[in-house]
Amino acid sequence: MALMTASHDSSGAAPGPRPFLNRGLAGFGTTIFAEMSALAARTGSINLGQGFPDADGPAEVAEAAVRAIRDGRGNQYPPGPGVPELRTAIAAHQQRFYGLTYDPDTEVLVTAGATEAIAASLLALLEPGDEVIALEPYYDSYAACIAMAGATRVPVTLRPHEGAFHLDLDELRAAVTPRTRLLLLNTPHNPTGTVLAPAELAAIAELAVERDLLVITDEVYEHLVFEGAHTPLAGLPGMRERTVTISSSGKTFSFTGWKVGWITAPPSLVTAVRTAKQFLTYVSSGPFQYAIAEALALPDAYYTGFREELRAKRDILSDGLRAAGFEVFRPRGTYFITTDITPLGEKDGLDFCRSLPERCGVVAIPNAVFYDDRAAGRSLVRFAFCKQTAVLEEAADRLGRLAR
Ligand code: PMP
Ligand code: GLN
Repeated sequence: MALMTASHDSSGAAPGPRPFLNRGLAGFGTTIFAEMSALAARTGSINLGQGFPDADGPAEVAEAAVRAIRDGRGNQYPPGPGVPELRTAIAAHQQRFYGLTYDPDTEVLVTAGATEAIAASLLALLEPGDEVIALEPYYDSYAACIAMAGATRVPVTLRPHEGAFHLDLDELRAAVTPRTRLLLLNTPHNPTGTVLAPAELAAIAELAVERDLLVITDEVYEHLVFEGAHTPLAGLPGMRERTVTISSSGKTFSFTGWKVGWITAPPSLVTAVRTAKQFLTYVSSGPFQYAIAEALALPDAYYTGFREELRAKRDILSDGLRAAGFEVFRPRGTYFITTDITPLGEKDGLDFCRSLPERCGVVAIPNAVFYDDRAAGRSLVRFAFCKQTAVLEEAADRLGRLAR
């Protein structure tokens, strides 16, 4: 048998040996986050690339996980939908923050992070040939999971205008065809920091109802909205019955390694997603599920304090990047800042990010990898600010040397 590890050759020229990687995943390679974190480790650079905090979440939540392990809670397979304590806490969270009522037994599903929630939802809900509309730039796993489902992604590009990225609702409407099965949204939006405004959400909801579309909405940064409040799409008229809402404890409680995520949706959608989920991981994160149940019940002061802390960090890094000569798109949410490197005399974000460690000891993410329309993202670079203040200040100082 002729074996080959190279990626799929679509040229159609010589028949050649069959590649290992299936056609759908050809070209996906290694995620940019892994590539850039490895670069940071190799060069000893400050890592403002991959979005993970450099300080763990609340000590009492970590203690709750230790207690669960010691008490023998979750050390064996937890129930497929998630432990009842966590499902109840997730439902209570939706009620407390948004006034949305979900039945913990039939309308909540715990997943291995938002990543599995995205994968299981897309694999469960799509047929080959279906079209999925996603906001571009899109989080990298969206494209891979749409491909694994055999469906087609249809990007609608967020465009920069007056210091922020905006959705063109006419473009969104025009992207819907008879083959469109679902809208895959993300607000607050990684990597641009855009938060869809209530009027935009209302227009999206109207469109979804009119064209009878399913909606998957990735709201993992729901507690990192710096201006205004987070509006869950599922709360809009006609949306509850067609919306899968995704969130994750990784972002809100700064325990990204625990991989406790979830969906809330009506029973028929939860059942569909659970069917796919049970053959991906079946279950995960047993003891951590109990700890996150306690975390979700933390008082409002935790949530407010977390947001205010990140707002201050956003301002430190935004100011530093601006002073260093970048064009800064000030994020209204998430813990990422998208910048344009053109004012620094640079054109290509990928080249820039690959050379940055050597030039000044900082790692960032080139936004181009989140675009089908690579030209639209070519000069854009993302920096994460979920890092300690002294680290952000040092990074800003180092980046300031670029122009000096
Ligand atoms: N969606 C978005 C928009 C994200 O930024 C991330 C991770 N940073 C995820 C999903 C994945 O979340 P998790 O780590 O819970 O799998
Ligand atoms: N979501 C994180 C980011 O955008 C990365 C998570 C991952 O590495 N898959 O940086």
